[in-house]
Amino acid sequence: MLKPLRRTLFRDSMHGWMWRAGFLAALWFAALPAHGQNDPVRVIAFGAHPDDCDLGAGGLAAKYAALGYKVKFVSLTNGDAGHQLEGGGPLAMRRRAEAQEAGRRIGVEYEVLDNHDGRLLPTLEVREQIIREIRQWKADIVIGPRTNDYHPDHRYTGVLVQDASYMVIVPNIVTDTAALRRNPVFLYYSDRFTQPQAFRADIVVAIDDVYAKKVEMLDAHVSQFYEWLPWTEGQLGDVPKDPGARKTWLATQPIAASKAKPEWREALEERYGAGAVRVQHAEAFEITEYGRQPSEEEIRVLFPFFPTK
Ligand SMILES: [Zn+2]
Repeated sequence: MLKPLRRTLFRDSMHGWMWRAGFLAALWFAALPAHGQNDPVRVIAFGAHPDDCDLGAGGLAAKYAALGYKVKFVSLTNGDAGHQLEGGGPLAMRRRAEAQEAGRRIGVEYEVLDNHDGRLLPTLEVREQIIREIRQWKADIVIGPRTNDYHPDHRYTGVLVQDASYMVIVPNIVTDTAALRRNPVFLYYSDRFTQPQAFRADIVVAIDDVYAKKVEMLDAHVSQFYEWLPWTEGQLGDVPKDPGARKTWLATQPIAASKAKPEWREALEERYGAGAVRVQHAEAFEITEYGRQPSEEEIRVLFPFFPTK
């Protein structure tokens, strides 16, 4: 008699355990917000150089930061080739300090990885750095460049982020950092390249209210916007010496102006309605085919900036 009784008790307790485990799992899944890992959402953006994220998503980041949302910018290279007079370690240190100041000015975290500028390749090592970054940040949104940019570092940053986009949820890859339970939404920054296909503006965010902050952020990259880039354009003599005057000058430059492009109008009207005509400065993003594909309802949770219809 004892044996069957013990077996029954064991079976009952197993059923109880399984039922409780199932119940707890259901509770855990129900507690996860429908749009991703976190509430509020967490955003991570990758650039090849310390200033790329700022140009592509500085306004968006300032808008999230103003809401108290967490944003992180990651530069995959240390920028040690981006100057006509300086280079190597001293330039890398200068650019890291500029990036950190830029992040501080709009309230986002800024990390500069120590890969060489102008020499970035889509290696397994850098892919794993990106997987760790996305997982540690518990990102809901990941932003990177498209893969048809003129600059090899930008292009490979695009490839590397694409290559990480599925692996972030695979527990057997990069086993020292817990895999995400849900795939983030992956976005591309806007660009001007048309081969093999042009950028598609899926999400356009008006940044007029934070445009001055974006310029403040760019102004922190002194080595780039006042020295290196004007030098490459043969315009070094145009840059005012006075810090206030040069910031005003920077705001007028096409690279910093973030003008809403005519081809973005339709996407602006879709979400801002009649207010779209008043939008001067904007940033646009394309939803990649990798990662989670958000519904319109989810888009409005991930981008809580659009007026309610
Ligand atoms: Zn760059």
